[in-house]
Amino acid sequence: MKILLVDDSNVESAVLSTYIKHLGAIPLCARSGAEALDMFAREQPDMVLLDVVLPDFSGHEVARRIRAMETSGNWTPIIFVTSQTRDEDVEKGIAAGGDDYIYKPVSQILLTAKIRAMHRIVQMRTSLVVLARKLDSANQELLRLSSSDGLTGIPNRRFFDETIEREWRRCQRVSKELALVMCDVDHFKAYNDAYGHQAGDECLRQVAKALKLSLDRGGDTVARYGGEEFVFILPETSAGGALIVAERARHAVMSLGLPHTESSFGVVTVSLGVASAVPDVNNYGSTLIQAADQALYQAKHAGRNSVYRHLPDNATPK
Ligand code: GH3
Ligand code: MG
Ligand code: MG
Repeated sequence: MKILLVDDSNVESAVLSTYIKHLGAIPLCARSGAEALDMFAREQPDMVLLDVVLPDFSGHEVARRIRAMETSGNWTPIIFVTSQTRDEDVEKGIAAGGDDYIYKPVSQILLTAKIRAMHRIVQMRTSLVVLARKLDSANQELLRLSSSDGLTGIPNRRFFDETIEREWRRCQRVSKELALVMCDVDHFKAYNDAYGHQAGDECLRQVAKALKLSLDRGGDTVARYGGEEFVFILPETSAGGALIVAERARHAVMSLGLPHTESSFGVVTVSLGVASAVPDVNNYGSTLIQAADQALYQAKHAGRNSVYRHLPDNATPK
C-alpha cells in the first residue's frame, strides 16, 4: 500500500513516515500542494494523509483537485492531519472531499487504526465495484438474449414489437415512409414431414441467415416473427425500395438450393408481402402489419416463391 504524505514540516513528515513504515506501507512525501498533486497523478497512491496548512495552497484545495482528477469509479481515501480542531474545520475538510480527520500531535495508535479502517473500506468498495461490473455485463447479456431468437440467433418477436413501435413514432416525427416485409417459408409443414423436425430447424437457421445477408442498410432489421415467418422493418424506405429488398431476399433463399422434394420448385422458397406507409395520427403500426400480411396472402395465392405489394383497395402484382 502506498500512502501519499503531504506535510511541509520535515519533522512531522519524518515521524509520520516512520508510523507508515511500521504498518508495512510505503510513504510518499510531498512538501507542497503542487508537489502533492503531481505525485498523486504519477504514483496513484492508495491513500492520502493531508496537512491543511501548506505553503502554496490549502489542503482543502488539494483535496478538491484530487477528487476532480479521479476518473469515474475510482476513489482514494483522504485523511486530513491538522492542528485545526474546531468542528467547522472538520466540516470544511469533509466538504472539500476529505474522508476523515486526525489531530496533531498524531498518536501512532490512532493513525494506525484509522489507516487500517480506511483500507478495509477501500477493499470492500473494490469488491463492490467488481461485482457491479459483473452485474452490468450480465444484464447486457440478458438483454441480448431476451431480444434474440434462440433457434436462429436473429432478433425475436419481442425485439420486433419494440422496434416497430419506436420506428413508427420516429418516422411519424420526420414524416418519412416506413416499410414492412412479411416473409413465410413455402410448404414448410411438408418440409418437416419429409425431412424431419431437426432438418426443419436447420432449414430455418439457413433461411434466417440468407434473409439477414440480403439486407445492406444499417437501420434495416429482420426478425423472426414466429414459426416459419420472418419480418423486415425498413425505416425511411418507400414501397419501391422495399420491393427490391424483398425480391433480393426471395432470390437469396432460393439460391441456398435447399432440396424440397414436396415443392414444385424443388428447393426451399419463401413468399413475401410488402407494405409501406407514412405514419400519421390516423393510422397505426398494426395496420401496416395487417397490410403486409394481406400482400403475403396474395403471394401465396398466386403460387408462392413470389413478392406482392399491398395497395389500399386491391393488391396487384409488382
Ligand atoms: P405455406 O406454403 O402456405 O406457408 O404452407 P406451410 O406448410 O409453410 O404453412 P403451415 O402454416 O401449414 O405450416 C407451418 C409449419 O411450420 C408447421 C410447423 O410445424 C412448422 N414450424 C413452425 N415453427 C417451427 C420450428 O421452429 N421448427 C420447425 N422444424 N418447424 C416449425
Ligand atoms: Mg406460416
Ligand atoms: Mg409457410
